[in-house]
Amino acid sequence: MSASPPTPVTCSSCGTTTPDPALTGMVEHDRVRGTSWVCGECLRGNVRAVEAKLDRAWW
Ligand SMILES: [Zn+2]
Repeated sequence: MSASPPTPVTCSSCGTTTPDPALTGMVEHDRVRGTSWVCGECLRGNVRAVEAKLDRAWW
């Protein structure tokens, strides 16, 4: 037990799970949902998707 193992995280966007969030992805802090993690692939493609969803939600 030389070091604490990385905590597996699940992408809040696509639902994929990775044992090491430090390799890729980004942790997001949301006041409502708390801390969530988004994988590297979703980081690029999901930004617009989220914005689109928000736009639709407003409409
Ligand atoms: Zn993802």
